[in-house]
Amino acid sequence: MMKVLVVDDSPAAIQIARVRLESEGVEVISASGGRAGLTLARSQSPDLILLDVDMPDMSGFDVCRELKEDASLNLVPVIFLSGSSDADDRVTGLDLGAVDFISKPFDAFELRARVRAALRTKRLQDMLLERAKIDPLTGLANRRAVIERLEQEWARIQRQGGTLSFVMADVDNFKCVNDRHGHGAGDRLLMEIARVLLAQCRKCDLPARYGGEEFSLVVPGEATPGAVAMAERCRGGIQEIRLQVGAGTLRVTASFGVADSSSCDSAAALIEQADEALYQAKHDGRNRVVAPVMGEVQ
Ligand code: GH3
Ligand code: MG
Ligand code: MG
Repeated sequence: MMKVLVVDDSPAAIQIARVRLESEGVEVISASGGRAGLTLARSQSPDLILLDVDMPDMSGFDVCRELKEDASLNLVPVIFLSGSSDADDRVTGLDLGAVDFISKPFDAFELRARVRAALRTKRLQDMLLERAKIDPLTGLANRRAVIERLEQEWARIQRQGGTLSFVMADVDNFKCVNDRHGHGAGDRLLMEIARVLLAQCRKCDLPARYGGEEFSLVVPGEATPGAVAMAERCRGGIQEIRLQVGAGTLRVTASFGVADSSSCDSAAALIEQADEALYQAKHDGRNRVVAPVMGEVQ
């Protein structure tokens, strides 16, 4: 269910909005001032904010400014509610990034229709953002999603402690597969590899296609030994893949690099360490898992 936050110092206005919007099948939450509205927006991540312009503690315009400066809230659409029908106010509101402006007292049908329209766009925006993080060939997360997830997990272990591992994998001699059997066969192999990785992941792990023929795993809560074991299972699974191409059977291997957060001071450093370990795995002969602290595993 989509969530609409109504921020207004008038309890009557909140009540009217609540009643009018109930029939739209949305959840309505409310705050009676600008400060409280910002706090609620941060904790509840609503899909739409109806924001009164005139409030004693903080004007709606200032609330909107803060919303737009907050990376986690700046995509939440804002509709201003105002007692004045002043064109200057409307211009100011829209220039601040609001999607719409509704005059008080509300016309019941107009309020509903404008909320419906804003939520329609929000749904579409959510869907596009979601798709922008998915690799179309394999259906796995893409690099953008990996970076975002690593940053989140990094922030979480800073707050709560714990460990986080990252695994980088690169298909061995993949260029030869394409050269000999065509790009189509290569693509099918990539899809099979994605399936193997997915099968080895827990719900909290993030298997991804990092780019081209590179894959990665974000493994929260595991230090290097656990992540190495997981990478080993993936390596074994990839080695078992048999792809029919014409009269023949295609096989493939992959190399893995593993690193954990204990030896890094940022998410970027974690990626770099896993990448260095992967480079070492390639250098040592491919089809193996390498972690910097443990040396070569296989
Ligand atoms: P190495 O063992 O050193 O990793 O050798 P490699 O041949 O795998 O490495 P290289 O980086 O030389 O080649 C990677 C190849 O992966 C080249 C590129 O055409 C292929 N590739 C990248 N993305 C795709 C894709 O989406 N589909 C297919 N079929 N091939 C891809
Ligand atoms: Mg590569
Ligand atoms: Mg490769």
